[in-house]
Amino acid sequence: MNYQNTLQFAKKMDAADPLRSFRERFHLPMQKDGTPYVYLCGNSLGLQPKSTRAAINQELLDWENYGVEGHFHAKTPWMPYHEFLTESMAKVVGAKPIEVVVMNTLSVNLHLMMVSFYRPSAKRNKILIEFDAFPSDKYAVASQIKFHGYDPVESLVELKARPGEVLIRPEDIEKIIEEQGDEIALIMLGNTNYYTGQFFDMKKITALGHAKGCMVGFDCAHGAGNVNLDLHNTGADFAVWCSYKYINSGPGSLGGCFVHERHANDKDLPRFAGWWGHNKETRFGMRDGFDPIPGVEAWQLSNPPILSMAAIKASLEVFMEAGMDNIFKKSKTLTGYLEFLIKEMNNEQIAIITPEDPNQRGSQLSIQVKNADKKLFDKITEMGVISDWREPDVIRVAPIPLYNSYEDVFRFIKILKEAL
Ligand SMILES: *Cc1c(COP(=O)(O)O)cnc(C)c1O
Repeated sequence: MNYQNTLQFAKKMDAADPLRSFRERFHLPMQKDGTPYVYLCGNSLGLQPKSTRAAINQELLDWENYGVEGHFHAKTPWMPYHEFLTESMAKVVGAKPIEVVVMNTLSVNLHLMMVSFYRPSAKRNKILIEFDAFPSDKYAVASQIKFHGYDPVESLVELKARPGEVLIRPEDIEKIIEEQGDEIALIMLGNTNYYTGQFFDMKKITALGHAKGCMVGFDCAHGAGNVNLDLHNTGADFAVWCSYKYINSGPGSLGGCFVHERHANDKDLPRFAGWWGHNKETRFGMRDGFDPIPGVEAWQLSNPPILSMAAIKASLEVFMEAGMDNIFKKSKTLTGYLEFLIKEMNNEQIAIITPEDPNQRGSQLSIQVKNADKKLFDKITEMGVISDWREPDVIRVAPIPLYNSYEDVFRFIKILKEAL
């Protein structure tokens, strides 16, 4: 791609962008002067599709009109509501419908998955995770280790970048699995690291782990809706993600969960059960022993919050209309443009810590600003950019293909230059 460092070029890219009309479908947060912020924070909280309000209102209206009968008579009946999300969510993450369900929230799903797939023994009780994993994931794995009577000091193996480096080298992942694989019960990595934006080769890691007899799961919070996960083909045992980051479904909205189809009919897997995971034919018999639904639906516990699901449904419709291939394609050129403009700045104070290879990252670039403090970040916010600051010196920015433009990226760099 031959990028140019001019506003005119950015506008030309926008005019030729097949997804350009989708920006109009989102609410962009506004500055006091009535112009929209340059919103580069969709990796933290995705923007609201304009169709979300009507989708939620429909459920309120159906509740108003039908009361409990809404379970059957609502426009989208509540009883099977989650099933209406499955097919499109499966497309977003590259899985088969039997492997995907929307339920609970991310950290809850991670625990439910570990109940089933972290089965430690005296000889094999370790969990492998990244050293700089998202804190919730670290708390979750450490508490599971303790729950089974082991000590995280011995059983939690942390993947670290080499001294003086930020990214984890693929060969170091290989080495640690090679050396300790026989003692590792579960490999649980953030597939796209929230801090560096590094996207790991899940298929390769899964194959290495399985060859050693480990279970393999991924936290795809920063991958789902952002990168082509191709979950089924990775062969991973499970994956979890949230829907409020790249999937634009609103603060605290329900998460997604993947269990590979090879486990779909294993009724002997240990799991924490609830009535929503029970055979739909006999669920209301209320007398039978637990009879799990084939596939990942068996892990559902409760009847779900419909208002959250309505927001997810509205958002997934936008994704389906845009097409995942178009989204991933634009993501590469849009983030590539951001990278190009940062390099053009030619400023020694600035370094991109995210991998340069477009196949090892999604839309996020993590920009390290040496010797800067949060004042710089506050300044660019004041000047009209919503992004994200991570101590000690990193600004995370993620141009989102559905609602960000090339002009947004250009404006961001202009503001960053001025602020510096
Ligand atoms: C955002 C995020 C979480 C948040 O978990 P919730 O249970 O949704 O609050 C956890 N892990 C990772 C890797 C994340 O990026």
